[in-house]
Amino acid sequence: WAKADGRNRWALYDPRRSEAEVARYAISASMPAGLERGEFYLEYQPITALEDGTMRGLEALVRWRHPTFGAMRPDDFIGIAEDTGLIVPLGRWVLEQACREAQAWAALTERPPFVSVNVAARQAADPALVDEVRAVLEQTGLPPQRLQLELTESALMGPAPIETLRALADLGCRIAIDDFGTGYSNLAYLRSLPVKSLKLASLFVAGLQPLPGPGGELETDDTDAQIVATLVSLARTLRLTVTAEGIETSTQVERLREIGCHLGQGWLFGTPMPPDEVRKLLLG
Ligand code: C2E
Ligand code: MG
Ligand code: MG
Ligand code: MG
Repeated sequence: WAKADGRNRWALYDPRRSEAEVARYAISASMPAGLERGEFYLEYQPITALEDGTMRGLEALVRWRHPTFGAMRPDDFIGIAEDTGLIVPLGRWVLEQACREAQAWAALTERPPFVSVNVAARQAADPALVDEVRAVLEQTGLPPQRLQLELTESALMGPAPIETLRALADLGCRIAIDDFGTGYSNLAYLRSLPVKSLKLASLFVAGLQPLPGPGGELETDDTDAQIVATLVSLARTLRLTVTAEGIETSTQVERLREIGCHLGQGWLFGTPMPPDEVRKLLLG
């Protein structure tokens, strides 16, 4: 490692730099131009009511059509964007694009779905986020009730100042906890946060097994179902709406419905799709 030997050399030609490091550098270096050239775009994944199967919202998921690396998934670049701070301009673009596209849905259907936008810890740490969200809502005309902001537990428990969260909630948008169950939530603190909904990490959903038959002959490990039931009951006590992530099978839907989970998201209901397909879907 160039830096560990104390000479502080970060030049690209240094043979000791790992390939991964070079790739990280190349990705972060091409991000600002990519933003300017319109290489980023959003896909939307349905969020469906488990009781009646109607679509209530869509999560905006960012993608990057990179000129040399090709199609890139968020896992390839979001972490790098967070480390370099580029997540701030990227996140601003995502927020604005998602609100603009979601506003247009109102012309297509009587009950337009909400849009759910991921907000990185670093964005939430910046008090300017509140003014940005307010300005974007004004510019796009999206009613604040139709905007949900997803923050992870670690962002909520750490970098996001409570004042920022309160101000965002005061604007009228909804704050959701993303990937709930994978971090360390301080329940006493969680209770005091202006959070309205909770997204249950796909990890727990993946472990949901079919119920034993009438004879009880099927031997299944029901630990995950018990965890989900406990989390849903906790959420209900805190008056939070629960969305289960990563639903891939009808068995999972049945179990989640019987547990009393409100909403679901996953390949079973729909994979992330381009805005054109969302419009078609809404036009019926
Ligand atoms: P996430 O917010 O938890 O989003 C859900 C991820 O699960 C998405 O991956 C989605 O495509 C995937 N998924 C949905 N249904 C299923 C399913 O049934 N099975 C499985 N195995 N996976 C499913 P994606 O699009 O690759 O995004 C990964 C993560 O990147 C997101 O996780 C989110 O943390 C982050 N991300 C995406 N877009 C943004 C963004 O605009 N800003 C920020 N800060 N982070 C973003
Ligand atoms: Mg999310
Ligand atoms: Mg999630
Ligand atoms: Mg995630």
